[in-house]
Amino acid sequence: MDENLPVRQAQSEMEKIVALSKRRGFIYPGSEIYGGLTGTWDYGPLGTELKNNIKKEWWRSIVQNRDDVVGIDAAIMMNPIVWEKSGHVSAFSDPLIECKICHQRFRADKKEEILSHEKTHKEKTQWTEPRKFNLLVKTYLGTIEEDKQELFLRGEITQGAFVNFENVVSSTRVKIPFGIGQIGKAFRNEITPGNFTYRSREFEQMELEFFVRPEDTDANKWFEYWKRERLDWYKSLGMNPDKLRFRKHEDTERAHYAKSAEDIEYEAPFGWSEFEGIHNRGDYDLKAHGLGYTDEDGGKFVPWVIETSGGVDRSALFFLLDAYKEDGKRVWLSLHPRLAPFKVAVFPLLGNKKELIDKARKIYDELKPHFMTAWDDRGNIGKRYLSQDEAGTPWCVTVDFQSLDDGTVTVRNRDNAEQERVKIDELEPYFKSKLAE
Ligand code: ATP
Repeated sequence: MDENLPVRQAQSEMEKIVALSKRRGFIYPGSEIYGGLTGTWDYGPLGTELKNNIKKEWWRSIVQNRDDVVGIDAAIMMNPIVWEKSGHVSAFSDPLIECKICHQRFRADKKEEILSHEKTHKEKTQWTEPRKFNLLVKTYLGTIEEDKQELFLRGEITQGAFVNFENVVSSTRVKIPFGIGQIGKAFRNEITPGNFTYRSREFEQMELEFFVRPEDTDANKWFEYWKRERLDWYKSLGMNPDKLRFRKHEDTERAHYAKSAEDIEYEAPFGWSEFEGIHNRGDYDLKAHGLGYTDEDGGKFVPWVIETSGGVDRSALFFLLDAYKEDGKRVWLSLHPRLAPFKVAVFPLLGNKKELIDKARKIYDELKPHFMTAWDDRGNIGKRYLSQDEAGTPWCVTVDFQSLDDGTVTVRNRDNAEQERVKIDELEPYFKSKLAE
């Protein structure tokens, strides 16, 4: 029995996704032509569509489809007092240890990474004592060199919802219980960026801060409600339920603001890994900023907060890993159609027959305003199908000679490679109804 086999399989699963991401334009290393910048990634044309689609679906389910949540978009740079009050300056840290042999630094709480590093040295590894390492990224603002103001790039997007709490209450019709949803970039000086985009230094979060009455029972009820909602959301977008689970935080690992916390984890090739946290932040944040709420009867209190904090990049990575399929003949991404970068690809059966090209081009022009639509008339049709399969395009429309006679085209399904004939006039409602499923 080869005991390293599972490790090698996991590495090869990741390598396939990394290679496909680069080859097809999902994700590239950041600043690659200058040797890269550790912990940063650039999304290519397909990756940008995927990420936008994840954000669109999140916004639809959390903000658009609900009466009790409103959306905001706060600034990345905030008055530094925010981070003092929020506790991030004193407590937003990870335990850092350093290998005394090669001086590489690790997070003391990531046991597997430490064990795997110890195997790289022949002699027994000696570690420094853990010390707290603050994750906030510093920057400077202003035009006069000596007068530049020192700032932090936000370490979580969350604080934007708190500092705007009173603005939102006074400028909208929300009443407790209600939520503020937000999507945006956050920055952390991660000690060990790695596992592709999983741990980056610049990343995007999608977060809901849901404000409830302070009673414990109310908060617990909403905590359970949001746990269910968020897990169901990932499942509804096709993520394999067997690879999803909740993990409750131990008392020692909870963030400085959290009364209780559970992570949604995905079984990645590198092990079960968090990609969304559901937190009961109690009244920690609003109290810290000296904010409160007055209800319709004049009752004053500091609301508690149930937070759902998801990572757009980690979700994108796990949707990609989950969707990756191969059967020896082809590789395809079985992404949910609403997440797929392109919904439809249109081809003339032959790239050198004017009648076919003209008809296909007309269909392409008609579909394009409604769906992200790709065009391909290169090489043979089989290769074009394979190329769209790898990009995760759920449907390919081919205009053949029959199309010229009877106004129908073939629509090929990415997942089973089966084809059906559909009337050209019915393509738009056909795809619309499929996307609504
Ligand atoms: P970890 O323990 O993995 O560092 P965390 O518990 O610090 O994560 P939170 O502060 O709860 O993470 O952040 C909420 C979400 O933001 C995470 O579930 C994740 O999806 C995303 N996130 C946090 N840090 C990163 C990062 N360095 N790179 C990519 N996404 C991140």
